[in-house]
Amino acid sequence: MINIIVANPHGFCFGITKAIDIATKTSKNQKKPIFFLGEIVHNQHVVNWLEKELKIKTVQSLDEISSDSVVIIRAHGASPTVFQQAKDKGIEVVDASCPLVLRSHQTVKGLAFEKKQIIFLCNKVDHDETVGVVGEAPQFTTPVTLDDIFNYPINNPKNTVIMTQTTLSTIETKKALDFIKKKYPQVTILPHICQATTDRQTVIIDLAKKYKLVIIVGSPTSANSNSLKSVAQSVGATAYIVDNASELQSEWFLNQKNVVLSSGASTPESVLNEVVEKIRQISPVT
Ligand code: SF4
Repeated sequence: MINIIVANPHGFCFGITKAIDIATKTSKNQKKPIFFLGEIVHNQHVVNWLEKELKIKTVQSLDEISSDSVVIIRAHGASPTVFQQAKDKGIEVVDASCPLVLRSHQTVKGLAFEKKQIIFLCNKVDHDETVGVVGEAPQFTTPVTLDDIFNYPINNPKNTVIMTQTTLSTIETKKALDFIKKKYPQVTILPHICQATTDRQTVIIDLAKKYKLVIIVGSPTSANSNSLKSVAQSVGATAYIVDNASELQSEWFLNQKNVVLSSGASTPESVLNEVVEKIRQISPVT
């Protein structure tokens, strides 16, 4: 018999809700063919649903789009080069970037103007947000992962600024930044982990400490979902990430009294509910 605790807040953040809203409005107002450039959000359920409902196709490159089209920039943003390429081709751009990601773009632009060296601390150097933000000033900005930062040489600490991706693990980021502050006290640190990420992780950390088994419902490509799993593991819980209910494994629940559930910022509530239902079938709640 297992008790299911659903963490709150969980699921859609305001940036994802806004991006979906923009896509919906664009499909209503536009007569031209509309395309998403890459997954508008990192969740295949949402992408499939939007493609079907709104008839918007996802492409990976502007080369796949003709000039009489509209392209929607995903919630994770894109580099200025992408906007320029679209303009050069005569493609209309609708920007669904999260405002908090755009804040990082503005910060990089300002720092590059001051000729600062910027380290963009990230999960993956090829994550869409990282590529977009670094693309604001590639000659001044270097993406460095949370793993690599411990061995990354900073040659001019006084002129170096460290920024962070919006969806990093708060625990791993603190470890990395504490290390940097100690080794290079002159480095300036400008963390940009967003409030939605922080709030969801704070709740999961508390619940994971108490209940020890955590399941995150989210896409394996979703940075914020992976960070939720990571913070749960950091405080000693066993944590899994599942894209949908079919990925649950019954042995995870053997001899367990409680399980904590949360979902990534782009995971629909319906998918979380299916996971809750499947866990109930595996181990009925008393
Ligand atoms: S997780 Fe944060 S930065 Fe990313 S879309 Fe949501 S609110 Fe914006």
